[in-house]
Amino acid sequence: MTFKSGRHFLQIPGPSNVPDRILHAIGHPTIDHRGPEFQKISEEVLLGCRRIFKTSGPVLIFPTSGTGAWEASLINTLSPGDKVLMFETGHFATIWANMARKYGLEVDFVPTNWRHGADPQIVLEKLKEDKDHKIKSVNIVHNETSTGVASRIPEIRKAIDEANHPALFMVDTISSLGSLDYCHEEWKVDVTISCSQKGLMLPPGLGFNAISEKALAASRNNKFKRHFWDWSDMLKSNEIYLYPSTPCTNLLFGLRESIKMLEEEGLDNVFARHDRFGEATRRAVRAWGLETLCEEPLEYSSVLTAVMMPGGKGADNLRKVILENFNMSLGNGLGKVADKVFRIGHLGDLNDLTLIGTLAGVEMGLALAGVGHTKGGVAAAMEYLTEAMA
Ligand SMILES: *Cc1c(COP(=O)(O)O)cnc(C)c1O
Repeated sequence: MTFKSGRHFLQIPGPSNVPDRILHAIGHPTIDHRGPEFQKISEEVLLGCRRIFKTSGPVLIFPTSGTGAWEASLINTLSPGDKVLMFETGHFATIWANMARKYGLEVDFVPTNWRHGADPQIVLEKLKEDKDHKIKSVNIVHNETSTGVASRIPEIRKAIDEANHPALFMVDTISSLGSLDYCHEEWKVDVTISCSQKGLMLPPGLGFNAISEKALAASRNNKFKRHFWDWSDMLKSNEIYLYPSTPCTNLLFGLRESIKMLEEEGLDNVFARHDRFGEATRRAVRAWGLETLCEEPLEYSSVLTAVMMPGGKGADNLRKVILENFNMSLGNGLGKVADKVFRIGHLGDLNDLTLIGTLAGVEMGLALAGVGHTKGGVAAAMEYLTEAMA
């Protein structure tokens, strides 16, 4: 590899770019994770997480990627043979469902065409039909990172309430937390799963479970064996701001900085910024004469946009051309949409010019790769961004 000047454009929908402030925070000498200095930082971080998840209850932090946090959510609350209602919104929902099956859970996996989110009406119908309460939990991916579709969590909550059903409600916010509005407590979510490397602008390595009283009660009687993922050990240590095993000390320094940055900007401003970037990107896509994978305007993701290739193939070649010529990484199509879509990440640490640079890289890449399109996507995005300022 030869030296490439300028920063690499990491415009995949996670891991996202890590801002300098966070890199510097992580670059602190490692300290005793059982000492008083650590306890102080740990307290700040554990309480700060509650504000980010919008909950007054505990948020547990495991040294893991998102997959481990998924696993913790299932095995702390359910028992082998339990029925779980899930929606095949895309690749990530499919992996979570497969994990549940491996653990011996019975998954009612509602199909979609990967262009829509979980349908609140179907949640209502499924739960109403389930008179003897065999369904123990409803598990939804908030932002389906493989498709750029965001499911409507408050409406799904409403459906569960309307059915008057006691199922737990678990939500994967791995790629939405810190980018899309999310309220663990107000939306009565029982387990919120997340991790560090997407909206929180950190490197991979921290996984989160925000838990409700109801989830905690379920965890006292459920039947899965666990040790590393056990909530009770973690909660006990967290009472004095320690951990049962060695935490990712330096990533926690980074998390403290990330929470500071999100709160300096203001969460509502962070969400509004992502919404603007989502809209600007969709306008560019439309101007190019291309189509987004998401078909439902109410479910457009402000985190990423998955763009369909004209003719249904060639996304990987386009990404290769863009990487080689402009030093920019875009997300690939995953699972069923491999090579059919490419994904533009617009989450985390970016501003108007980062987005315009990203879209310019895509527009030039479309031309270089010989993908049929109309010029003017970047111009449409610029017009929208400046309009929104006036
Ligand atoms: C990234 C992602 C995951 C997987 O997390 P890992 O950190 O790769 O284990 C799960 N769900 C969603 C929605 C994601 O975006």
